[in-house]
Amino acid sequence: MKGHMSTFKHCPICNEEKPEGITIYNTFICLDCEKDMIQTEPSEVKYQYYIEKLKVINQKSHISSY
Ligand SMILES: [Zn+2]
Repeated sequence: MKGHMSTFKHCPICNEEKPEGITIYNTFICLDCEKDMIQTEPSEVKYQYYIEKLKVINQKSHISSY
């Protein structure tokens, strides 16, 4: 995953193109959303929202031609 450092990736959580982030469940998450997730306790509804959203994104990407 080296090179292409200036390439913006689409973050499905905030729906924005971001230059930096991490990949969770094979899905790119921008740094802003990652920070938000880390600050969220697993017991919080918001955390569940993120996880569920990631799962849904993965399922969709499996169905469409990946
Ligand atoms: Zn984001």
